[in-house]
This record gives sequence, C-alpha cells and structure tokens, in this order.
Amino acid sequence: MNVPHCIFCRIARHEAPAYILCEDAHSLAFMDINPASPGHALVIAREHAVNIFDVSAPALAAVMATVQRVALAVNAAFLPDGLSIIQSNGPGAAQSVLHFHMHVLPRSFEDGLPINWLLRPGERRAIEAAADRIRAAL
Ligand code: 5GP
Ligand code: ZN
Repeated sequence: MNVPHCIFCRIARHEAPAYILCEDAHSLAFMDINPASPGHALVIAREHAVNIFDVSAPALAAVMATVQRVALAVNAAFLPDGLSIIQSNGPGAAQSVLHFHMHVLPRSFEDGLPINWLLRPGERRAIEAAADRIRAAL
C-alpha cells in the first residue's frame, strides 16, 4: 500500500526528488537530505509500513540485504572510522518520518553524535526479570 502524502512513499514512486543509490522490488536506498555525517544514507521498505512493528517479513529481509550492500559501498567510498546502522520506532525514539527506514551512518572518532553510551553493568536480577517479561510476550 502507498500513502499519497508520505514523503518516503513519494520518493519510492519517483514522485519526489532524491539521490537514489539503488532499488529493488521491496527496498530503496537514497541519501539523507540532512546528513549527520558525509555519506549518510537511508534504506526504506518500498511498502508503506510505519516501523519495525508493522513492516512485513519480505520487506524487512530485502531492506536488511540492501543495508548491507549500501554499508559496504559507503565504507569503501568514505573509509569512515566506523559505521552505525540505526532504526528508530516511535516518538520516544525520535522517529521523525513515519515510514520504515534504516540509517546507514558513517562514523568518525570525533563526530560527537549523541548515540553512544557507556557500558555500565546491570543488576543481574533486573536483567533476568526483563528477560522473563520479554519471553512471556514472544
Ligand atoms: P528518523 O528521524 O525518522 O529516524 O529519520 C528520518 C530521516 O529522514 C532524517 O534523517 C531526515 O533527515 C530524513 N528525511 C526527512 N525528509 C526527507 C526527504 O524529503 N528526503 C530525504 N532524502 N531525507 C529526508
Ligand atoms: Zn510511506
């Protein structure tokens, strides 16, 4: 299903401009218009799914394959210090475009992007209790 006014659906239909990198039946890759670092690209599902909670399994598989293809190319083209794959779901995760997408984000030691965290050991019983809650929901 395509949503008429969704910007990423419009890019997928070639109705809105984008620097497209590659596309296939289920996925599409293009440059982010507000790059957080040089080479920042996006990979979207061609179908209109909002996020990880409703994207179809075939679209998700295609997106992941394209993410790897684009990550290899970005890595070869920009030789970054590292590369983060980021995917946000919902307002608490600051998802700003409500069409499923993954960020392919080249990183440098100096970029200061606020997405890294320090490793602090958790409390074992709290981790186990969290695992119990998730297993019950699987
Ligand atoms: P989110 O915040 O949802 O994880 O990421 C959405 C991304 O889409 C942002 O990085 C933003 O710069 C990018 N974006 C928003 N609108 C457009 C657009 O019209 N064209 C392109 N190429 N990127 C967009
Ligand atoms: Zn859409």
